[in-house]
Amino acid sequence: MSNDRETDGHRARKRFGQNFLSDPNIIRRIIDAIRPQPGETMVEIGPGLGAMTAPLLERIDHLHVVEIDRDLIARLRERYSPERLSIHEGDALKFDFGTLGDPLRIVGNLPYNISTPILFHLAAFAEQVQDMTFMLQKEVVMRMVAEPGTEDYGRLSVMLQYRFRMGRMFDVPPGAFRPAPKVMSSIVRLVPLPAEELTARDEALLGAIVTAAFGQRRKTLRNTLREFLDEAGFAALGLDPGLRGERLSVAEFVAIANYCSGAGK
Ligand code: SAM
Repeated sequence: MSNDRETDGHRARKRFGQNFLSDPNIIRRIIDAIRPQPGETMVEIGPGLGAMTAPLLERIDHLHVVEIDRDLIARLRERYSPERLSIHEGDALKFDFGTLGDPLRIVGNLPYNISTPILFHLAAFAEQVQDMTFMLQKEVVMRMVAEPGTEDYGRLSVMLQYRFRMGRMFDVPPGAFRPAPKVMSSIVRLVPLPAEELTARDEALLGAIVTAAFGQRRKTLRNTLREFLDEAGFAALGLDPGLRGERLSVAEFVAIANYCSGAGK
């Protein structure tokens, strides 16, 4: 018996965020957007039942995949030879993407329940990445690409815009998946900025400052950044301590971090 949680005899697992792409037109649009070229080093996160894996392998000779669900891995092993598909069994949140070589292209219809941690994990590999193309819930994509002063602008926007140029490519409705998710989805592309633009000397400090600034969104910088900047610091940076964090650009956050770590003094 099939039901709406079952595809090809596999019952979708909620805990692994399984919503399988089933609309051939959408799949084609995503593959066209990725534009895979023979010889490229590419990894797909969460291949699932292979909706994107199969068309990717029509265009490139070899693909890496990282998948956590053993049942799905067994199916992939039956279907593809190791010469074509390198299967990395395990949690993408712990996977060392640095072992795959560079320049690396990363793609996937990501499990939405771990979208933010996975983006932060992947950001650490920016220097060897050529680009990343993902399906995510639209609401997360809007936060990724948000501009200062908007409601969506926050920690995710700053920490990703610090490393990547990002663009929302197109939206995908729930009906393109089985089972259908409750939310609208979007395709987003991330391209790393040139290394010299990564200017925070102490990235952990940048992260701490951004987290503090958005921790209590309604409070002013004078309050949220008390631990990092005094009035003289605000004056030296030409920043108004009466503003809220959402008004600061990525460059201003980097300037604060560098001032605090001594590099900007
Ligand atoms: N790519 C397939 C498609 O488009 O039909 C499946 C997409 S589904 C939204 C997410 C996939 O990621 C599932 O195959 C799921 O098992 C896998 N997954 C979930 N959590 C994971 C994790 N932590 N590490 C690796 N794969 C994971």
